[in-house]
Amino acid sequence: MQRQLYTQPINTKSLHIKTFGCQMNVYDSNRMQSILTAKGFRAEPELRNADVILINTCSIRDKSEHKLLSLLGELKGLKEKDPKKVIAVSGCMGQRMGRALLQRVPHLDLVLGPDAIDRVGELLDGVIHGGQRLVEAKFDNEGRSYSQPCNVHRAKPAELLTIVKGCDHFCTYCIVPFVRGREKSRSIEEIVQDVKNFVAQGTTDITFLGQNINTYGKGTGQKLSELIEAANQVKGLERIRYLTSHPRDLGEDLINQFGTIEKLCPQLHLPFQSGSDRILKAMSRLYNQELYLKKIELLRKASPHMAISTDVIVGFPGETDEDFEATLKVLDEVKFSGAFLFKYSPRPGTKAAEFGAEVPENIKDERLARSQKILNHHIEVENKNYLNTVIPVLIESMDKKKQYFSGRNPQNKLVHVMNIGDASIGKIIDVEITDTNVSCLKGFYVGAPKNEINYRRIENHISSSLSPTPN
Ligand code: SF4
Repeated sequence: MQRQLYTQPINTKSLHIKTFGCQMNVYDSNRMQSILTAKGFRAEPELRNADVILINTCSIRDKSEHKLLSLLGELKGLKEKDPKKVIAVSGCMGQRMGRALLQRVPHLDLVLGPDAIDRVGELLDGVIHGGQRLVEAKFDNEGRSYSQPCNVHRAKPAELLTIVKGCDHFCTYCIVPFVRGREKSRSIEEIVQDVKNFVAQGTTDITFLGQNINTYGKGTGQKLSELIEAANQVKGLERIRYLTSHPRDLGEDLINQFGTIEKLCPQLHLPFQSGSDRILKAMSRLYNQELYLKKIELLRKASPHMAISTDVIVGFPGETDEDFEATLKVLDEVKFSGAFLFKYSPRPGTKAAEFGAEVPENIKDERLARSQKILNHHIEVENKNYLNTVIPVLIESMDKKKQYFSGRNPQNKLVHVMNIGDASIGKIIDVEITDTNVSCLKGFYVGAPKNEINYRRIENHISSSLSPTPN
């Protein structure tokens, strides 16, 4: 008689992954979740109840690092109560601090950098079964290409996909080149295969990720525009986006694809950081205000309804009132669809941290508030223009309180839809916009009666789909 193979997962520990930071970290966390699920770890929604707590960290700002240290402090008591609990830190802060973090936090078991995420399973084995405290924070510095097939098992309607890692620019305020290494790209063939796998699981909207995505393929002979063309051919994929772009590296080949490549969404995140040429030079951003505004003009010529978002840093060392006025001018002139506005915070190891000439905190606060006011004004005006229009929305999720469903239009506007059910998740539907505010659009699916959602019906549907099978 043939013996049956033992297929039960060997590892039955529960796992909670907490993510700080950018979309690349979200992607890395999803990747680690997939790897560890395949090894038999169970997802635990409550951080405190998990056997393994993995915190994927961000180093971009001082505040993010403080948040991690305070969370680690809170976890000390949990580890004392249950010494078998495993606490691990991954991501940029793990890379930046490495062994020093393990020394500083005695109840921490594992520290790993972004280049070690594919080894998270074996590293956790070393901690759980080998009783070791481990650090793995080496850079993969070989060559210009790398392979990292995504292998996801549960895809969402809109997915992120990292295609290039690291950065070759050294903006003087930025920690990324020190914690993510030099730029390396995956091949178009491997990425397109990942896209097809996502689409086979119901994804229709894909966002390619990279710290400086425009130079994707550097040293490999492949280009981002070629990848976009190849992804555009994937049957079943409806929307393509990418981030983050660098104004100097956004070439005409890429700009001209907006409006000509059918599935490329009319939306781009293009950080300008400062409107002052003097500050841009001190930041080593390699462009000036004129070049930035020229790129915006070309983008809007290529695709008149393009939504452009940005990043701004206020209070960079030495920023004068005049420099800041130049930033306000750009905010006012471009009328961005969204922005991340930050107060400058020095990062150890970067050039700008040595500049001195710190702008006082109260002035940074005031500049942040003035920037936010202009930004919000333009977003509100833009959102109001959507009133009484019908727009295509990809429905991604239901609100936690089950009051509405949320999705995005091609311009990446967040849209809440009131009169649909969960069968709409993953579909692109036509929505009439009836209300707007600075953070979202609200409306009704035009193919159904325009009444408020029947919450009871949705709740019933969910609980009945979870009922046990009769035996
Ligand atoms: S281009 Fe972006 S990721 Fe690269 S150093 Fe500059 S700010 Fe950092």
